[in-house]
Amino acid sequence: MNVIAVANQKGGVGKTTTAINVGTALAATGQRVLIIDLDPQGNASTGLGINRADREKSTYDILLGELPITDAAVSTCVPKLDVVPATADLSGAEIELVEYDERTHRLSRALARCEERWDVVLIDCPPSLGLLTLNAMVAANSLLVPLQCEFFALEGLSQLLGTVERIRDRFNPGLTIIGVALTMYDRRNRLTEQVSNDVRAVLGRVVFDTVIPRNVRLSEAPSHGLPALIYDYRCSGSEAYIALARELIARLPKPAAPSYTKAA
Ligand code: ADP
Ligand code: MG
Repeated sequence: MNVIAVANQKGGVGKTTTAINVGTALAATGQRVLIIDLDPQGNASTGLGINRADREKSTYDILLGELPITDAAVSTCVPKLDVVPATADLSGAEIELVEYDERTHRLSRALARCEERWDVVLIDCPPSLGLLTLNAMVAANSLLVPLQCEFFALEGLSQLLGTVERIRDRFNPGLTIIGVALTMYDRRNRLTEQVSNDVRAVLGRVVFDTVIPRNVRLSEAPSHGLPALIYDYRCSGSEAYIALARELIARLPKPAAPSYTKAA
């Protein structure tokens, strides 16, 4: 099982859109994918068509109630794509968790119990570097960082990378950045071009070649409870997410080859 946290402490940079659409693209390749909605706003759950009234078990129950993930995950309209929905009570979890033992390891413990159930887990993080995001970073093999090409992008990123460094030192030495995805890319905007060049100069190959364009279809899809890849698979946003998923797959560790031993 490969666990990828989609993280950036800034809000509105495309974390949820990336988690949903990369998750959909990975599921389309036949992998069993789980999205864990770790944002109290629950946008990933809504965007995958899980109505608030239907969210019986949630990420909150996993983190604070030790409910097995397999009991909280629900299927979506996308075959092979499941989601653990988030409810508003998750906003209290950040504070409640402080009182708990091993508060940074709650999610990683829960995932260890369902190792065989999914091939890839994407964690949609909230826009902060609080305990919820720390739980994601402790549980993850790698981070996928959506980055919007705006003036302070690099400042925000250095804060994120500092946190990753501390998590590596203390809890999760193997944590890597699997890639930085430039989102809401606007080719007509000179600042976008400039920031993108700066980001690539500083970060190099970790930045995906694919950029996600600003595309209204990507923002319409969630109101229909559908991934953009289902809502309109031919829009420029969907095409970009398919290309991004392809790049991501190439960076994932190869699953162990099946061994074809001759039956005795
Ligand atoms: P985050 O999870 O980081 O807060 P979201 O993925 O929710 O960010 O995106 C913020 C808003 O921008 C949402 O309304 C979303 O639909 C919209 N959005 C995301 N990516 C794009 C894009 N490439 N083009 C246009 N709108 C986008
Ligand atoms: Mg979000």
